[in-house]
Amino acid sequence: MFFFFVGGLEQQVRQVLKSGVGRCINCSSPADLVEYDKVLKLFFVPVWRWPGKEPLLYCNSCKFMFPQSFSPTVSDVLRCRFCDRVVEADFRYCPYCGSDL
Ligand SMILES: [Zn+2]
Ligand SMILES: [Zn+2]
Repeated sequence: MFFFFVGGLEQQVRQVLKSGVGRCINCSSPADLVEYDKVLKLFFVPVWRWPGKEPLLYCNSCKFMFPQSFSPTVSDVLRCRFCDRVVEADFRYCPYCGSDL
């Protein structure tokens, strides 16, 4: 008696929260912060789906998904190149010295 199990658990991107926030630990392309669903597939048909707990980083180039804490650039923050203070990544001007970022 042969038994073939052709099901599997997959992670599918539900929504991109922020793009280009990290770097892929696999191919070092820019990775997006995403919310994802875990999908149980049986005979390639999704039979069950439930949301993942934590947002993950997802690489569009190699389709690799990994926790944000794995990304080496998470601790990298944007700094003003004039006064070297930490600024928000989407600020256009430094709030400390007013320089164009
Ligand atoms: Zn990658
Ligand atoms: Zn500054």
